[in-house]
Amino acid sequence: MATSRRTFLKNLSAAALTAGLPPVANAKVPPVFPVVVSTWNFGLQANVEAWRILRTGGRALDAVEAGARVPEGDPNETSVGLGGLPDREGRVTLDACIMDEQSNCGAVVCLEHIVHPISVARKVMEQTPHVMLSGRGALQFALAHGFKKENLLTPASEKAWKKWLKKGKYKPIANIENHDTIGILALDANRHLSGGCTTSGMAYKMAGRVGDSPIIGAGLFVDNEVGAATSTGVGEEVIRIVGSHLVVELMRQGHAPQQACEMAVARIVKNQPVKSKEIQVGFLALAKDGDVGAFALQKGFTYAVHTETGNVLKSAASFYA
Ligand code: ASP
Repeated sequence: MATSRRTFLKNLSAAALTAGLPPVANAKVPPVFPVVVSTWNFGLQANVEAWRILRTGGRALDAVEAGARVPEGDPNETSVGLGGLPDREGRVTLDACIMDEQSNCGAVVCLEHIVHPISVARKVMEQTPHVMLSGRGALQFALAHGFKKENLLTPASEKAWKKWLKKGKYKPIANIENHDTIGILALDANRHLSGGCTTSGMAYKMAGRVGDSPIIGAGLFVDNEVGAATSTGVGEEVIRIVGSHLVVELMRQGHAPQQACEMAVARIVKNQPVKSKEIQVGFLALAKDGDVGAFALQKGFTYAVHTETGNVLKSAASFYA
């Protein structure tokens, strides 16, 4: 199946070249755009905000930032932004990154006290010569750019952490609120792609731990010629395969986003045949033609897709039943 599709696309590109047309790898179906896709159930609300921008011809970059800010600002979401579950010392440390259609990117890691790390990441991208700022430097930068210093540890998250401390056992539970990142990808009316990814990381992680989410290529990757991808789940396993970059490169080779996500998950299974049975990792991909794919290790990974026909929550297929 994969081979015949590759051959088909190769022939298609060759035919397009002969005809003097640009080699559009995804010329099989009429493009679907604008479109925005986001991970997990909170992706539905995030998509609503992103769509406000996309439907009036706005930029994908603005859309993904606006969408990501929704769970970041929600104190009841315990895996992103305000209300995020803390590390084992009780500190809420946030990771985020953003990438646009020109491969500009920005990231913050281990950022404390700021509700919207996605917006700080965007400022890093737009107003510094760097890609990533961490910890104290990221906080200083945020404060210097007008972000307010706040306490992100809500009473509910503090209570959960104190309960966890009694046993102090670190064991991520697949699909439970001790992790879940929002990854959001958009294709705008100008057919430009952008993506954002933001999280409080794995609950009760070691102090200083950084996952895949703020790492360009791991938690997020955008290539405006090909597509975009993002990930969620146990970040260590995603980093090991540079997951989102892998998904985009598989799409570049002619694989549909669905196949690309499946192949990336299969890579994790191959690398970690035992551990992969117990953890969750999910990939979400959006091709340049608006085609969407998603796949996870375990059941339970949901994602939301918003096109002009509506905003729908879907369940990704999984490697393990
Ligand atoms: N990928 C995130 C991390 O490892 C957590 C998650 O998405 O569940 O920090």
